[in-house]
Amino acid sequence: MVVRRFVCLLAGLIIFCSVSIGSAQTITTGNLLAQSEYQTPYYIVDSGVPGSTVMIIGGTHGNEQAGWEAVSLLQSEYSQSIRKVERGRLIIIPKANIRGVNRFVRLMERDDLNRCYPGDENGSPAERLANQITTIMQTYQVDAVIDCHESLKYANSGGLGNLIIATSGPARTLAKGAVNYINAHTQPRTANQSWRIGGYPIKGSTAWQAGQLQRNGFTIETCVKDKLADRIAHQIMVIEFLLAKHQI
Ligand SMILES: [Zn+2]
Repeated sequence: MVVRRFVCLLAGLIIFCSVSIGSAQTITTGNLLAQSEYQTPYYIVDSGVPGSTVMIIGGTHGNEQAGWEAVSLLQSEYSQSIRKVERGRLIIIPKANIRGVNRFVRLMERDDLNRCYPGDENGSPAERLANQITTIMQTYQVDAVIDCHESLKYANSGGLGNLIIATSGPARTLAKGAVNYINAHTQPRTANQSWRIGGYPIKGSTAWQAGQLQRNGFTIETCVKDKLADRIAHQIMVIEFLLAKHQI
């Protein structure tokens, strides 16, 4: 009888422990290019439950507003526990090229951050930033990287707008799923506004770097011809779809 009571007590403790772990979302922060004029924060939202790790980046190009607005909004909502990571963890970099964001320009000085990967710890600011982001991808063994961009034109008129670019392998299937999902839920008013899957990430880009590490890499491209609120909503819709597919 004593043994049975002990087993019951133990079972109760195990359940109690797993519940408390499951609700123990923690957020730790750090800075990229710390102590410089390019210093920009990153956030690690950890559910405390084993699972995938996904990195979300905004502001790789400072003038692509819906990307960094969407990622900043998500970061704010996770920080306030409006959103919760149920399993695994998220690494969020809201404004990678923060000086570009503040000045509303694409480049970091003369460099395109999205051509600088894997980066160089002794290089230009953009190369050093790419190096630090690559190091985070490796250190935390990310399963996927989602980089949020915008284009001046729609994909079928010479731009990349309303397109998801993905690395080879399982990322292509996930990107096709995301395209179908967003087209079904946004009811594009014109053929231009329909979402499509794009080609493979360009060499030196964030998503390309994920591919180099044999991880899923995605570039989301909204189109500035659409309303800003819609573009932010579309970015978040695609991110939410991809997070769900990674069981986050
Ligand atoms: Zn871009």
